[in-house]
Amino acid sequence: MQRIEHYIGGRTTAGTAARFAPVYDPSTGQVQAEVCLAEPSDVDAAVRAAAAAFDEWSQASLSARTSVLFAFRELVAEHLEELARTVSSEHGKVLSDARGEVQRGLEVVEFACGIPQLLKGDYSDQVSSGVDVFSYRQPLGVVCGITPFNFPVMVPMWMHPVAIACGNTFVLKPSERDPGASMLVARLWAEAGLPPGVFNVLHGDQVTVEALIDHPGVAAVSFVGSTPIARAVHERASRAGKRVQALGGAKNHAIVLPDADVDFVAGHLSAAAFGSAGERCMAVSVSVAVGASADALVERVRQRAEKIVVGPGLDPASEMGPVVTDAARRRIAGIIERAASAGARLVLDGRDLRVAGHEEGFFLGPTILDAVRPDMEAYREEIFGPVLSVVRVDDVDDAIALVNANPYGNGAALFTGSGEAARRFHRNVTVGMVGINVPIPVPMAYYSFGGWKDSLFGERPMHGPEGVGFYTRPKVVTSRWPTSQAPAPAYHFPTGR
Ligand code: NAD
Repeated sequence: MQRIEHYIGGRTTAGTAARFAPVYDPSTGQVQAEVCLAEPSDVDAAVRAAAAAFDEWSQASLSARTSVLFAFRELVAEHLEELARTVSSEHGKVLSDARGEVQRGLEVVEFACGIPQLLKGDYSDQVSSGVDVFSYRQPLGVVCGITPFNFPVMVPMWMHPVAIACGNTFVLKPSERDPGASMLVARLWAEAGLPPGVFNVLHGDQVTVEALIDHPGVAAVSFVGSTPIARAVHERASRAGKRVQALGGAKNHAIVLPDADVDFVAGHLSAAAFGSAGERCMAVSVSVAVGASADALVERVRQRAEKIVVGPGLDPASEMGPVVTDAARRRIAGIIERAASAGARLVLDGRDLRVAGHEEGFFLGPTILDAVRPDMEAYREEIFGPVLSVVRVDDVDDAIALVNANPYGNGAALFTGSGEAARRFHRNVTVGMVGINVPIPVPMAYYSFGGWKDSLFGERPMHGPEGVGFYTRPKVVTSRWPTSQAPAPAYHFPTGR
C-alpha cells in the first residue's frame, strides 16, 4: 500500500507515523493509499523548519523571489495533466474539471509573479522641514494554510503562492482525503528553486490543525472548509492572538426572473448544480424561481440533468464523478429522503444510480427537489452533493429577502434581461460574490475570493490585493537626516508645520 508522508524542510518524512487515514479511489470505493497523520511533535518540526527558512527567504531580493515564482509557474503549467489526474483519482471529479481547478490555481501563481508591483509602498517628500515619510509592507513569518478536500490544488494555491511571494514561509495542512497533489506541488516548488523549509506539507486531522494554530511559531492562519470548523478555527486562532482568515461553507442561490431565457438558464443551472457532483463551495444549490416561469424551468433543468453522464472521473466520457466518500453519499441520500417526506417534490432522484463496473464507487446521480421550503433541512443544510433545491417565490424582492435571511453569504446569481433588476440585486444582496447571468461568479486571481456572514470569519478574503494585505504588515518610516539648519527639538507634540 502506498504511504503518503509529510514534506518538512525539503524532505519527505513519515515523522511520528503513529496514526494513518485511508485515501480512497471514490470511483471504485477501494483504499488506494494511506496518509500519515501529524502529531504535535511533527507540527513542531515543520514550524521549526519553516522558521529556520524565514530569515533567508524574507531577506531574498524581490527579483530572486520572483524568479522562483516564474519557474514554479512554468512547472505547474508543464505538470497540469499530472496534477489533474492526481486530483481526479483521489477526489473523484472528472478530469476536465480537475484541469480547470489547476488552471485557476495557476492564475494565482501568475498574480503572485507580479509581487514587486504589489508590495510597492508610498513616499511623501518633505512632510515637515527636512522630514520624509515612506511606507512598505513586511512578511509575517511562518504562516499556515488548512484546506478542504474539494479543491486540493486550487484552494491551497489561493494561499501559498501569495504568502511565499510576500516573503513568508508556509506550512500547508491539506485535506487528509486527497493529500497526493500537495506532495507534487512541494516537488515543483523545490524544482523551481525554492529553498528547503519555505514550503512544507503536513498531513493530518483535528489534532494537527489544533497544534498548528496553538504553535507559538505560527504567525497567521488561513483556513478554508465547512462553517462549524471555520468558526472554531477562527475562535481558537483569535484567542491565541493570531491573524486569521477562515472561509466556511455556502448555500448559493441562483434567482431566475421570468424575463430570463429558460434554455440558457437551464443549461447553466444544471452545470452549476451538478458539475463536480455539487462539491464546490460556489455550486448553485438553490434555484429561486420567480413567478410564472417556474414549471418550465424545472422541466428544462430535469431534461438536462437526466442526460448527464455519471462515471469515473478519469473516464473522458464522464461529465460528473462520484462524491468523495461513502459517508458523504449516505448523508446526502438521507437528506433527499427526508426532504421528500417533508413535502418536497422529487423531480429527479439520483439515489438508485448504478455505474456499470463501478458498483462499489460512491456514486449518486443528479437530484432535483422542487417546492422546497426554507424551513426544510434540504434548504437549511449545506448538502454539498449533486442536489438542486427549487424554491418558488412571487417577486425579486422576495428572492433577495430569502438570500439575505440565509446565514451563509458566499455567492448568489441572478438570471434576468433587466439591468434595473440586476443593479437592485447586486446592491442589496448580502453575499460576497455576485453573478449576473453568471452562475458561478468565482473572482479572477487579481480580485479577492470570499463570502460574507457564516461563509467567512475574519475580515480578509483570499488572494488578490486582500491576500497580499493578509500576508504582510505595514510599516511607516518617518525620517530626517539632520543638517545644521534643522529646527531645534521642542516639547510640544510634533506636527508638520
Ligand atoms: P472540513 O471543514 O471538514 O475540513 C477542512 C479542513 O479542516 C481539512 O483540512 C480537515 O482536515 C480539517 N478539519 C476537519 N475537522 C476538523 C476539526 N474538528 N478541527 C480542526 N480541523 C479540522 O471541510 P471539507 O469537507 O474538507 O470541505 C468541504 C467544505 O469546505 C464545504 O463546507 C465547502 O463549502 C467548504 N469550502 C468553502 C470554500 C470557500 O471558499 N468558502 C471553498 C472550498 C470549500
